Amino acid sequence: MFLEIDSELAHTVNMVGITYLLPDIFSAITILCMGIYIVFEKDLYVARQRKPFFFLLSVCFVYSLVCIPMDIALNSENVFSPSVSLIIATVHAVFSQVIANMLMFYIVKDSRNSFARTKDLKPVVYAALILTCASVTFFVVNIRTGIAFSFPPEGGAVEFGPLYFFHFLLMSLSAVITFAVIFLERDSMLPQIRRMASYVPFIIAVLVVLQIIYPKSEALLILVSVLLFYCFTNLTTSSFLIDNLTGFGNLKYMSSFLSYYFSKGVRFSVITVKIQDYSRMHMDFDVKSVDALIKMIGDEFAGLELIQQVFRISENNFVLIGPAPSDQGCRILCTQIVDIFARTYVIDRTTFNLKGDIYLIPCPVVASSRSEVFDMLAFFSEKKVDLKNLSASYYSIRNDFFSFIVCDLRLKELLNRRNYIVKLIREACEKELFEVEFQPVFDTGGNFCNLAECLIRLYDKRYGHYVSPAEFIPVAESEGYIDRIGLFVLSRSCRMIRECIDNCLPVPTISVNFSARQFYSPDLVDDVINLIRSYGIPAEYIKIEITETNIIANFTKVRHVMEQMMACGLGFYLDDFGSGYANISRYISLPFECVKIDRSFIKAAMNDRKNDVFLRSVVSCFSSLGYKVIFEGIETVEGYEYVCNFEKAVIQGFFYSPPVSVGDFRKLLGLPDF
Ligand code: C2E
Ligand code: MG
Ligand code: MG
Repeated sequence: MFLEIDSELAHTVNMVGITYLLPDIFSAITILCMGIYIVFEKDLYVARQRKPFFFLLSVCFVYSLVCIPMDIALNSENVFSPSVSLIIATVHAVFSQVIANMLMFYIVKDSRNSFARTKDLKPVVYAALILTCASVTFFVVNIRTGIAFSFPPEGGAVEFGPLYFFHFLLMSLSAVITFAVIFLERDSMLPQIRRMASYVPFIIAVLVVLQIIYPKSEALLILVSVLLFYCFTNLTTSSFLIDNLTGFGNLKYMSSFLSYYFSKGVRFSVITVKIQDYSRMHMDFDVKSVDALIKMIGDEFAGLELIQQVFRISENNFVLIGPAPSDQGCRILCTQIVDIFARTYVIDRTTFNLKGDIYLIPCPVVASSRSEVFDMLAFFSEKKVDLKNLSASYYSIRNDFFSFIVCDLRLKELLNRRNYIVKLIREACEKELFEVEFQPVFDTGGNFCNLAECLIRLYDKRYGHYVSPAEFIPVAESEGYIDRIGLFVLSRSCRMIRECIDNCLPVPTISVNFSARQFYSPDLVDDVINLIRSYGIPAEYIKIEITETNIIANFTKVRHVMEQMMACGLGFYLDDFGSGYANISRYISLPFECVKIDRSFIKAAMNDRKNDVFLRSVVSCFSSLGYKVIFEGIETVEGYEYVCNFEKAVIQGFFYSPPVSVGDFRKLLGLPDF
């Protein structure tokens, strides 16, 4: 009976006895897991960041392994003589302090970047040395006095002295310094890490309390794993958020950063710097040289005193965070940025000038949320609006190489309007609210040429008027709605032609406008041909209008698509001739059958002799090449009389008819009412 109880007791004591090993085993396993992950996912990390951390992990792993036999030795009776146990325990304790300081140094070094307030790492190094020296002295004193721990001379497990907590105090000081630095650097930290860092002090507090209550628990060893895990998360998160070349945050990082800044309610500027001709740089120089230049420019920006953050959101696009325009320094910062941009750089011994656009967005005055900043960045990168007049008030520079524009509230109005138009277009697509009008073409005798242009119409119910295609077509292009619009207009034109055939009336030729963007769609040719076939009409009655600017933007693609469609019977009109700056010889090589002379060109010719001579020679040139010529936008008697000078002139303009509704056009064609 007694024997039984005794063995039960011994078992329980044993169970309690080995709990001191749990922290060792726990940290060894967590460190091992992190190490294995890093080895397997090597490509995720940049070598210069991965290697130091891996080294730190290895040291800590060895430490936690060595702790296991040490702790067994120290906590079991009579394994070593008391003096040997004392030396082992002292080395163990000093080593813990060294590891804590290594971690402190690593975390501090890691949480600061070029914008950090702790620019100088020396104080941290001194702190680490002082703490280590203090710890060594304390434990050497302990060997003689036993103030922290000692071993009974008759043998047995460790006994704690009255000042044992001093050991924890020293280790906690390392943690306090670490978190003081993290707190100071919180604005320049990854937001995810900032969030995580805010939990770590609580975990540490719990562990310290645990350690004080149960000195044998070695809870502080768990602290090592917690801090390592913090570093591991930091490293892994940054591998997703940091640009490898420059070490600055990427687009994702900027996104979280902006949310944080807006939530703080501070005033700041978002300055976007887009370097143009990036692909040309790659053609002229090798990748390494271009990378070196990009890195150098980024470092120059980061070196400016007033810059709070630098991001590289795409290959050639930096975003800088600086003070708001209302701050005194902002203007100085603008000049410094311009200086960096205007400098002559040398790549591969060749001098090189940067080209590009710089926009400053005052936040929260002009952009009051992260999504507004993103809208504006998209705005600038696609050059969706002409921003020439937006910035006269504060600071603006424009020359052959670059422009620097400070945006004001007018930009916000433009953006709001644009978003409103996007909404209208989306709604019109979903609910089929688009309409079309037809503008008939006449000869100078006023006879309808059985030819008309089909034009898209978008009605704005809220304001009770139609939105001009000149306003919504570019938006539809950049938002991806233009293909649907193109097919819609085409289907309405086909339907009109079908009805004329069915009613045995003279069949009109109808032209539709195509945008450059439509030519990028791989399905364009098939969609167009299938649609025309579905109405069972000959493709010859449909003509596609393409503008000069569309052709320049997309020459080879346009030519390819034209050839494919021509083979199916479709014809092409060159629209708005004279409004752009196209190279005539280039598009003369394309298979157009008609040229539509732009209103602005005709107006210029009516007012100026040189333009008149030029227009006449161009028209005669087109006529002799066999092109049909249509004069667009003739509104007045003077315009009409001017155009009558040209042989067999054909007119599309308000003089004869504005674009008319489907009902009116049906009447003109002789079709019955709906
Ligand atoms: P466009 O292809 O050059 O179309 C002719 C434009 O000139 C039409 O403007 C028409 O209303 C206008 N116009 C005709 N005669 C006169 C005149 O005597 N005086 C004046 N001031 N204007 C005249 P609208 O309908 O506003 O279209 C503007 C532009 O929008 C079109 O220019 C075309 O480039 C584009 N567009 C219209 N519909 C479509 C479409 O379905 N798809 C695409 N991609 N673009 C379209
Ligand atoms: Mg047109
Ligand atoms: Mg036109």
